[in-house]
Amino acid sequence: MQLYTKILIGMVVGVVLGFLLGPNSDLLPEGGVVLGSKAQVLRAKGAQREVAEARGIERAELLERDGDWLRVGWKLRAKDVVRLEAAGIEARKGASFEGWVLESPVNARTFSPLGQSLVDSTEWLGRLFLAMIKMVVVPLVFFSLILGIASLGDFRKLGRMGGITLGFFMMTTMGALVIGLTLANLLSPGSLMGQDDRAMLLGSFDASRVTTAAAGAPSLVDQIVAIVPPNPFAALANAQMLQVIFFATMVGIALTLMDARKSQIAVDVCDALNEAMVLLVHIAMKLAPIGVAALLFQVVGTTGLSVLLALGAYGAVVLLGLLCHITFIYLPVVRFGAGLGFFGFLGAIRAALVLAFSTSSSSATLPVTMRAVEDNLSVSNEVASFVLPIGATVNMDGTALYQGVAAIFIAQIYGIDLGMAEQATIVVSATMASIGAAGVPGAGMLTLAMVLAAVGVPVQGVALIIGVDRVLDMFRTMTNVIGDCTATVLLSRLQGDNLRVVSPGEDAADPRHGLEGRLDHPSPHAVQADPSEP
Ligand code: ASP
Repeated sequence: MQLYTKILIGMVVGVVLGFLLGPNSDLLPEGGVVLGSKAQVLRAKGAQREVAEARGIERAELLERDGDWLRVGWKLRAKDVVRLEAAGIEARKGASFEGWVLESPVNARTFSPLGQSLVDSTEWLGRLFLAMIKMVVVPLVFFSLILGIASLGDFRKLGRMGGITLGFFMMTTMGALVIGLTLANLLSPGSLMGQDDRAMLLGSFDASRVTTAAAGAPSLVDQIVAIVPPNPFAALANAQMLQVIFFATMVGIALTLMDARKSQIAVDVCDALNEAMVLLVHIAMKLAPIGVAALLFQVVGTTGLSVLLALGAYGAVVLLGLLCHITFIYLPVVRFGAGLGFFGFLGAIRAALVLAFSTSSSSATLPVTMRAVEDNLSVSNEVASFVLPIGATVNMDGTALYQGVAAIFIAQIYGIDLGMAEQATIVVSATMASIGAAGVPGAGMLTLAMVLAAVGVPVQGVALIIGVDRVLDMFRTMTNVIGDCTATVLLSRLQGDNLRVVSPGEDAADPRHGLEGRLDHPSPHAVQADPSEP
């Protein structure tokens, strides 16, 4: 069976099991309650009712249900806080506490402890797979970029490539924002949310996390200067992608300026190590079917269906926007700019898309994205190793589009009217915020705080969308990766590469290329143990 088929099966298994056997499953017995970070707990004491606010207590035991009211009990840990409006409860570590909470998707949700333990006992499989792929990211980018730049030969080519790449990234990001803002204004998802849902979502949120993110955003000049790493080894060790890209580019340039006899040694070493990293990607991908199943089981199992429904209109506008962006911007570029059939193109990068979807991380997907465009679309290493790492770090059209929709949605709910000037500010700030977002899960939601602050919308509004963020992240990350690949095929065509779509059948038939069966056919020149040795 083809690897890709196995990965697809892993996806389906993860999603189905997540619904059936995850913590939010209706099939498993409920026994625990997830409390929102500011859940209100009522405690009946004689005739009086006391109101307590429980903070930091994420999980409680479900003792009894009475309609929408749940009787919950928990033991206080040192970091938990229970604030009482009426005196009477001694909140010390180890003390048992009991009270009633009103069930709602964000204030208090029941879950199945059995489903939770299934997630807890399988999540390491997803983590292991992700770690295997992430392990390759930095060395792969480093060696393959040095190799790519050194074989470019001509700096004017490099300058041209850099200029077109960055220009393309900026234009498509702005295009994404225009699409997102237009749809959010036309369809107005904020007007569909009821007063109760709004109060409940806002009440459950601790804004300090995102507010700090907004306050810490450095200026543009500082960001540009910071791309030059004072200590490249530290940059490599900390996986600071832009710094690694800059250093590798400079090393590649230096190699082309040197005496060719000397530089050839370094180029050969990079070439060999690059090949080794490629094989590590193949080894890691063997784990993909199980890893993807475990990752999706966790995400689907822990996202409440009720939260998805409460935010359905907003989520639908984001998804519609992403679809429009792919159709009206990427499709014409791939079709007419790079001369490739769009569905053939999507088929060729399918392994990267599946991975982007299940990991919500364009950085973690990068090694597979590089393999996909080089092996399945015949993009040259010099273009792929230059455009894709930069793309995975700075080009996030899906993220920008989502930030535009989210900003308008939150403003609509607060009743804030954003005029043309404010919307232009959103375009500029969300472009910067998407560039600043790292290619990791949830990064776009943190930098959204910058966008909200720029137009005076309360940062607390992020609470409104937090529930569906992880699910939308899967789709926007996939869009981000399609955008990176679109730029790559365009650049590749402009550089004169002869692009060709390797079909899934061809990939499977020839194990020397593509993602299928590479490890089953080691090189005939592979290092062999000498049989004559004892
Ligand atoms: N998860 C996204 C990515 O890796 C970034 C984001 O929008 O949060 O591309």
